[in-house]
Amino acid sequence: MNLVNNHLRQPDDEHRGLECRACGCKHFRVIYTRAYREGRLVRRRECRHCGKRMTTWERAIG
Ligand SMILES: [Zn+2]
Repeated sequence: MNLVNNHLRQPDDEHRGLECRACGCKHFRVIYTRAYREGRLVRRRECRHCGKRMTTWERAIG
């Protein structure tokens, strides 16, 4: 048995808990990432399924 921790790797464009409000899909494409004030990041995302766009806010690490 060769267990590789691949499942621990989180692709950059997968945001846990984020769901498309239009179709419920959890797969998003990141259109752009911007640094914002107070160490936060703004990500503009597009649903891979229906194309609905939304903005998410994330705390920058470090
Ligand atoms: Zn969608």
